[in-house]
Amino acid sequence: MTFSYISHLDCPSCGNRYDSNQVQQLCSCGSPLLVRYKLDELKENVSRESINGRNADLWRYHELLPVNDPNNVVSLGEGMTPLLELPRLGEEYGISHLYMKDESLVPSGSFKARGAAVGISKAKELGVRAFAMPTNGNAGAAWALYAARAGIEATIVMPIDAPSITRSEVALSGAELYLVNGLISDAGKIVAQKVKDDGVYDASTLKEPYRIEGKKTMGIEIAEQLGWEMPDVILYPTGGGVGLIGIHKALLELKEIGWVTGKLPRLVAVQAENCAPIVKAWEEKKERSEFWDNSTTIAFGINVPKALGDFLVLRAIYETEGAAVAVSDEELLTEQRNAARTEGVFICPEGAAAFAAVRRLKQTGWIKVNEKVVVLNTGAGIKYPETAQVEVPVLEIGDRLSTSK
Ligand SMILES: *Cc1c(COP(=O)(O)O)cnc(C)c1O
Ligand SMILES: [Zn+2]
Repeated sequence: MTFSYISHLDCPSCGNRYDSNQVQQLCSCGSPLLVRYKLDELKENVSRESINGRNADLWRYHELLPVNDPNNVVSLGEGMTPLLELPRLGEEYGISHLYMKDESLVPSGSFKARGAAVGISKAKELGVRAFAMPTNGNAGAAWALYAARAGIEATIVMPIDAPSITRSEVALSGAELYLVNGLISDAGKIVAQKVKDDGVYDASTLKEPYRIEGKKTMGIEIAEQLGWEMPDVILYPTGGGVGLIGIHKALLELKEIGWVTGKLPRLVAVQAENCAPIVKAWEEKKERSEFWDNSTTIAFGINVPKALGDFLVLRAIYETEGAAVAVSDEELLTEQRNAARTEGVFICPEGAAAFAAVRRLKQTGWIKVNEKVVVLNTGAGIKYPETAQVEVPVLEIGDRLSTSK
């Protein structure tokens, strides 16, 4: 039995091919590389029914993942998160079929675990002993934890303002952790120098080709959970954009092997008003984004002033006739509270941004009442205790709550 149908890597910019049995980083032209599979063979040998009895984790799609030997799989049980219908919130927005793909249930509390599981497994298969990466927190946390499980050494650099729980996750898992007085882009520069000096594997976003493959499983799951039908719209809080690129790639691959048919969903990149390089580029119909100066948002996972894969994100939006939307921190915090009250879901600020975008796009008529809409809640609200500002009365021992005299 063939565990993976991986064939090679290729460059979406210049078309150069690379051997996937060796460590690869960026293309010589500077572009990220994409993993390619023998989809013709896969189509012939693997039916979508054949995966029915498999474990409910992302490795159920192993033929479409890059790890050749199952012994190299490093797993904490990630994947197959709930696709929850949100009828009351849908009613409030005026949408009959609103769903949330809830990534808060993944190990480490964010969907970054998907990228880490596949990225670390492939790194192990390729004999990588040590890597370095910059992070806004969640990716570092996930990669450090999976690295510990794999016995690989991790060096992680994150902004001093990153959610403090992610700092603890990295430190406790034994990785070498540094905080930088700056943004993820500043952390990235420090990591790039370390990679140059010490020759360690560079696990920066899209500088290794495999984290996209982990994240793409969100797209496969959405299709499977909807009975191999595609929704009309998928909204995704976009920082580096890997999830969106991954979902797009997944749906194209599923179409090619015949597991889904028809029109791809319109993909929507959601960003924060004060860090919206993709939105700006999309509004100006550009192919690439520009560095966003002085970016800031409470939705830390999407505070990415310039994404290496911006052209792939924009391509995914253009090709699916999607959109890009920026929302304010105030809007997303209101949405976070509203989602908890209306549906009992404690979503992360990034996910809340995507919900704010749904509200906006329904109001403008871009989303129609009968469309099937899927929102990615990319992480657990409980990872960001500081974003929920609450005021609570304090009682003295023996106080009574009854208001009747
Ligand atoms: C990293 C992150 C994002 C953005 O993901 P990309 O794939 O880099 O665009 C969104 N939400 C959360 C919670 C994150 O940690
Ligand atoms: Zn290239």
